[in-house]
Amino acid sequence: TASQEAEKRGWHLYLVGGAVRDLLLAEATSDTLMIKDIDLVVDGFHKSADVGAGVELAKALQQLYPAARLEIHGAFQTAALLWHKDPELDSLWVDIATARTEFYPYPAANPEVEASSIRQDLYRRDFTINAIALRLTSPRSGELLDFFGGLLDLQAKQIRVLHPNSFIEDPTRIYRGVRFAVRFGFEIEPQTEEFIRYAINSGVYDRTSQENTKTPALQTRLKTELKHILEAPYWKSALQLLDNLGALQCIHPTLKLNALLLRQLRLLELCLRRFDAEQTFIHWQMRLEALIAHLAPEYRMKVAQNLQLQDDSIVRLKNLVQSFSQVIESLPTFQRPSQVVQLLRQYDLPMLILIALQSPRYIRHQIWEYLTVWANVQPLLNGNDLKKLGYKPGPQYRQILDDVVAATLDGVIKDRTEAEEFLA
Ligand code: ATP
Repeated sequence: TASQEAEKRGWHLYLVGGAVRDLLLAEATSDTLMIKDIDLVVDGFHKSADVGAGVELAKALQQLYPAARLEIHGAFQTAALLWHKDPELDSLWVDIATARTEFYPYPAANPEVEASSIRQDLYRRDFTINAIALRLTSPRSGELLDFFGGLLDLQAKQIRVLHPNSFIEDPTRIYRGVRFAVRFGFEIEPQTEEFIRYAINSGVYDRTSQENTKTPALQTRLKTELKHILEAPYWKSALQLLDNLGALQCIHPTLKLNALLLRQLRLLELCLRRFDAEQTFIHWQMRLEALIAHLAPEYRMKVAQNLQLQDDSIVRLKNLVQSFSQVIESLPTFQRPSQVVQLLRQYDLPMLILIALQSPRYIRHQIWEYLTVWANVQPLLNGNDLKKLGYKPGPQYRQILDDVVAATLDGVIKDRTEAEEFLA
């Protein structure tokens, strides 16, 4: 339908970006393909119609598919149609942009002009494998436009950048390149790697990690890329590759994936698997928090704020130094498990994990014991039992039951009878 609507208006329509890449990869491997994100580019060719072509097409499609939600992003002249949990389509996101190009005073039929406007649009993209277009309108619908050797790179399993300055222009492309390399099992093509190293050596990360950043949009994109990486199953290999390239410096110049950080990340995974299998907490954010917590305390807040972490993460990172010292100073002085419980229960699970990651082994063991056993100890009696024992119902019940738990934890009482004697 989209191509018919475009044809009616004398425009060309192209499928571009990840969907074309994934189609071609799936074709090569005979894998089944689930596309949830479709990028379309309209080529207008008429001076007046050009600018708003993508938006106009999106509006026309929305009339035909009222179930879709329409979003218009005026500044970039792009529009998106979103089908959210449609019974047939499940969730589908369709971005429609107008080819970003200069205006040509030639008629639409001129093939050179045609080619050059979509070509320019593709040239602004990140990697050759993401810069292939599939023409959806006739004539020659179904034709692939591959100006930069994307098909060859797909076959050769290579991530190749489109121009030498690409990473200077947008350092988050380094993260994107790493993500695609690890996700598809591709290599970063040697010259592209050189461009990455050149960008990093020339201090491009200052723009992403500097204090008082003047480029919040860059930070937002960096966070988006970190999210994609840290929520993917391949996150650890991606971090390794980013570290090898020196690109963790974009988060903070001192961030290195050393043996200590690797051990902390392993421990984090163990804790998340064991204590948060239901994913009550957002695991990619916990991984990011662990990376930031690994930095020296004086750098943590700035990085967390620059990356616009959620409020609860920011508060945790802010309180970490104080909570950490409280735990590691107090725990060794405690004689009884109930004292440990009393202290640790004021922290949420993510905070306890962050503290554990940085703690020496004997402190970690106590936290582990708390999380696996002590935190789950229930009072041997309930409110009804207290009533029968002659206690007047009221808020003091909480304290009494806490005392029963503490006595159980410390081995003072073992069963209900002993609990009743304890309270008698
Ligand atoms: P994924 O399957 O991970 O979503 P994708 O390639 O579809 O991969 P998007 O982030 O949705 O990734 O981007 C869509 C397209 O927009 C890319 O294929 C690429 O052509 C272009 N693009 C996205 N981000 C950049 C960038 N930072 N610089 C240049 N081009 C970009």
